[in-house]
Amino acid sequence: MIIMGDDAQRVKDKDAQEYNISAARAVAEAVRSTLGPKGMDKMLVDSMGDVTITNDGVTILKEMDIDNPTAEMIIEVAETQEDEAGDGTTTAVAIAGELLKNAEDLIDQDIHPTAVIKGFSLASEYAREEIDEIAEQVDPEDDDLLRSVAETSMTGKGAELDKDTLADLVVRAVQAVTVKADDGSHVVDLQNLKIETQTGRPASASELLSGAVINKDPVQDGMPTDFESANVLLLDEPIEVEEADVDTSVSIETPDQLQQFLDKEEAELRGKVDKIVESGADVVFCQKGIDDLAQHYLARQGILAVRRTKKSDLGFLKNVLDAPIVSDLDDLEADDLATGTIRRDQEDELFYVEGPNSHGVTLLLRGSTDHVVDELERGVNDALDVVSTTVADGRTLAGGGAIEVELASRLRDYADSIEGREQLAVEAFADALELVPRVLAGNAGLDSIDLLVDLRAAHESGDQRAGLDVFSGDVVDTFDAGVVETAHAKEQALSSATEAANLVLKIDDIIAAGDLSTSGGDDEGAPGGAGGMGGMGGGMGGMM
Ligand code: ADP
Ligand code: MG
Repeated sequence: MIIMGDDAQRVKDKDAQEYNISAARAVAEAVRSTLGPKGMDKMLVDSMGDVTITNDGVTILKEMDIDNPTAEMIIEVAETQEDEAGDGTTTAVAIAGELLKNAEDLIDQDIHPTAVIKGFSLASEYAREEIDEIAEQVDPEDDDLLRSVAETSMTGKGAELDKDTLADLVVRAVQAVTVKADDGSHVVDLQNLKIETQTGRPASASELLSGAVINKDPVQDGMPTDFESANVLLLDEPIEVEEADVDTSVSIETPDQLQQFLDKEEAELRGKVDKIVESGADVVFCQKGIDDLAQHYLARQGILAVRRTKKSDLGFLKNVLDAPIVSDLDDLEADDLATGTIRRDQEDELFYVEGPNSHGVTLLLRGSTDHVVDELERGVNDALDVVSTTVADGRTLAGGGAIEVELASRLRDYADSIEGREQLAVEAFADALELVPRVLAGNAGLDSIDLLVDLRAAHESGDQRAGLDVFSGDVVDTFDAGVVETAHAKEQALSSATEAANLVLKIDDIIAAGDLSTSGGDDEGAPGGAGGMGGMGGGMGGMM
């Protein structure tokens, strides 16, 4: 027997499934209109009034501030996809939503959820095997193909307008941090790659630089800023007087005592600066603060000092310069310094730092405003991930819905070999995959039903790479047209979508400590915690 509190609510069996499915579907529907090159953007305003404009599935879901447990499971799909593949988040979430929609129809026909779950698992496994079979193995040094992979992931994002420049930068950046192992495999180390953003100039002025870019000013104007070969100190200790214990108060009663106190502080600062001077450092990148007086001493010694360097920048400088980060000036030795070239870009107010072994590159992304640069960065991040995956893994697929239609057709054949009600679930899985070409078409204002018929026909006649060119509205060989995705991202999208759908379907009893209908807050009542979002950014884009 379960004894529940007064506020508790309980929903069981079919009601529980219906409730969960509708919450999950609401989330999926909220992002669907952003799918593909012709997808719309969403404007998200957080509780602080900050605005994000994006087309990126995972960003939308994270910012939506959803407070519904089922909807959160779907958001996890996007997060897993982002972590594991870096791209394909909208696809993964949209497929999860469609799987649940189709599952609901089966449950309405009195098919038990366990049979649906079983069928979905079988289908997902089979589809992933087929992906491996369908995938085109590419040469990891085929620049044109890598650029297509980059462009496909950036199309429809803020990065799109300058996608030629950016795709080329992304490919060169990945290649700069790729090492060919003895066994011929390629290893990409994204740790050696950093993105820096700068507003004020167009995206087409973005560039790939060797070394690090530090967006900081010298602590004093008179300091030297350019060094051909500098001794560089990376420091994460403040060059300040150590704070006296909060409890001890210094009582100063006479002018003499005051003078003594100030002298002591001065001596301490001077001692710290002397340590730096003695080590032979020409440049100090300090993660913490630098006292005014210490700044003055450093300037007098001709040392360039930068304070409050971002932790991530200091970590990257460590890679680029092959130097340790010093955390106690008392232990400082000449050996702790690195040798590097420092240049100051006066106009952009940036430092360019290069090490002797040219470890590490920086992708300097430019854009007119913060909103533009932020969305650019999200697009470029996706592209970096898929290009790295392609270099390391080599398996690619024809996009524009081609792979989904091919998988759906193979799954329908496979379903014939399955007995019982699971067969219907495998077929429902195949139908769910075809959501991708349908939504791509719908978002582009094309007739999704006609196009799906054409696509299916092309695949029936053996054209595995027939997909949708959303710009012309034609069915084409999308691989040849340069719409290329990674097999890895697609496999991941299918497995996380299936897992999430099955997780939702397994629940037949919801026991909530509070009132379910208000768990999403006043204006986001569940189910349909995301209902309010559905109408934003172009709505459903003509979807069925
Ligand atoms: P996701 O978050 O799932 O990556 P996107 O908005 O990036 O969502 O859209 C990805 C989908 O768009 C993929 O199915 C991809 O094949 C398709 N796509 C990208 N470029 C094109 C194109 N030029 N023509 C048709 N489909 C495209
Ligand atoms: Mg994408």
